[in-house]
Parts: sequence; C-alpha cells; structure tokens
Amino acid sequence: TENIGERVSLRGLVEFSNNCSCDCYYCGIRKSNFKVRRYTLTKEEIIDTSIYCANAGYGSIVLQSGEMQSKKFIDYVEEILIEIKNSTRSDLLPEGLGITLCVGEQSAETYRRFFKAGAHRYLLRIETSNEGLFGKLHPPGQSYRRRLECLDLLKDIGYQVGTGVMIGLPGQTLANLAEDILFFMERDIDMIGMGPFIAHHDTPFAGFALDNSERKNNIYQLALKMIAVTRIVLKDVNIASTTALQAMNPIGREEGLNFGANVVMPQITPSAYRKDYLLYEGKPCVVENNDECLSCIKRRIESTGRKIKCNEWGDSLHFNNRLKNKVL
Ligand code: SAH
Repeated sequence: TENIGERVSLRGLVEFSNNCSCDCYYCGIRKSNFKVRRYTLTKEEIIDTSIYCANAGYGSIVLQSGEMQSKKFIDYVEEILIEIKNSTRSDLLPEGLGITLCVGEQSAETYRRFFKAGAHRYLLRIETSNEGLFGKLHPPGQSYRRRLECLDLLKDIGYQVGTGVMIGLPGQTLANLAEDILFFMERDIDMIGMGPFIAHHDTPFAGFALDNSERKNNIYQLALKMIAVTRIVLKDVNIASTTALQAMNPIGREEGLNFGANVVMPQITPSAYRKDYLLYEGKPCVVENNDECLSCIKRRIESTGRKIKCNEWGDSLHFNNRLKNKVL
C-alpha cells in the first residue's frame, strides 16, 4: 500500500466470445477443442452488461475473447468500443467506462483502431518470458517474437500495457519465474496479471493436472510469492488478483490482495455463457449471476481491510509516472 495506496480497483470481466483461431496447448478454448460450444455475445448483451457495470460503480471493464483476426471480428470490436463509450457517459463517469481490451495478437492498424475507438489499456500475456518454453506451449505458427512485437506496438500507440505469465507450467523453473519479473521491469510494463497454470482435461496438457495436494499448494504459494516479489520490484504497477488463484483456493483472490495485488476482475459475462469460457479446470463463479458476483467480491475485498475504488478507471500509476518521466 506504500506504493499504490490501500484501495482496490474493480474491472468487470466480459468474456464476449470464445471463438479462437489459436491452438495454445494449455488453453481450454483452443480451436482444436471441438467439445466447446462456441458463442459470441450480441451487441445488445455487451452494451447491457456495460451499462450494468457503469451503474454498479465498476468504473472499468475488461473485454476478453479468443483471438480472431477476421475483418468481421475487428469491425465488431471497434463498433462495440464506440458504443460502450457512448452509452456509459454520466456525471460520475464523464468519459464513460474505462476499457481494457484482451483480444490477442493483432496488426498495428487494428490496435490503432481499437485505441481510437476508446480502449486505453491492453492485456497480452507473454505466458513465459523464456523463448524456449514459449515454444513448447504453442504450435509452430505462434511465435514469441511476434508477441514481443505486439507488446511494443501497444506501448507505442499509447496503451497502458499489461502482460503476465502462468506459474507452474510444465518444464518451468524458478529461474524462469525470476526472469519473468525482470522481463516486466525491462519492458517497463504497466499492469501485470499472473496466475497458476491449471490443466484442462480437453487439451494436450491434460496430463499435467495437479493430482497431489502438496504439489498443488506449492504452485499456489509460488503464485502468491510471484505477486509479492513483483510488487516489491516494480512498485507502482497495477497487479491483478486473478480468478485462477481462486480456482486453486477459495480465498485465493483475497490472498492475492494481501500479497500485493490491487486490481480484482469480477465476472460479468452473462451467466448462460460462463460455462463455455472454461480456460482451465475448476474455474469459479460460473453459475453465479452479476449481482451475486459483485456483492461477493465486495465482501471479499472488505474482508482484507482494503477499500474499493468506485466510479474510477483505476489507471496504472506506473503509466502516469512513465509519461511524466519521458525524455522529450
Ligand atoms: N485470447 C486472449 C485471451 C486469452 S485468455 C489473448 O490471447 O490474450 C487469458 C489468459 O488465460 C491467457 O493469457 C493465459 O495466460 C490464461 N490461461 C489460459 N489457459 C490457462 C490454464 N490452463 N491455466 C491457467 N491460465 C490459463
């Protein structure tokens, strides 16, 4: 709290489509998982959800989906961004909801269009900063270099840039994790989202399920320690206490806050679709509705003694400091 204050920012997380053209070996919604019932929310559903969020005091949302590069998808996202901005302006939020986008690797032009349309923060996890390990998690067409290029593009365009890694990946070492934190530092990253890797049964990584509770607890503790060390090293960045933490431990998100996180992203995907956005096994909050999730998360945050930032974007302090210190 010395670095970022005691208040916690909320972002409503809208998982607006599970269509995906990628085939990441760890992910439950990879394109080769034919068991997934694919969906895309309608514009009305997304706008209604956004208005709900704005009225509930969230201040910001995260729009997340699988990765698609089709013209249809890009036009759709752009249209939605503009409409969310237009329909959520109020006295409390003069510029509308803050919007973080998380739709994967896109071209420079697409990133520019999305920025212009109103997204001002972007999450794109590097998944691991070790190029060799990255190669083992993804099929040949998906490259580490391309991901780095995308992170550079996002920063140049003016986004607050978020990235992050999974913890406990097959073949990952403690040294890899230490290097991940140095990677965040060297790249001057504004926001971090990290969580434990949790195997999904319909993926090539199904065999890496943590059946042993001691091992499971070790990975969970390691994820909390990653948050703590990242906070100590990077100081003024936003760090999310992720859903995957809660998947491993019922009070995982509260512990994430106690270990140094300052952002929580409650689910606001319409309940009917939540069970179709299973990135990993045992994802929590898939049967609850939005009101339940909001009151639950408020209770959870307050149980840590922290307060909630209402009706604010909750931007990364690091980003503001980065701009202030920019040499002209
Ligand atoms: N298509 C978007 C959103 C990806 S899902 C994008 O490319 O950014 C968001 C994150 O969920 C991923 O970046 C990954 O780190 C995490 N994730 C996916 N599968 C997971 C698993 N099995 N266990 C834990 N986290 C997982």
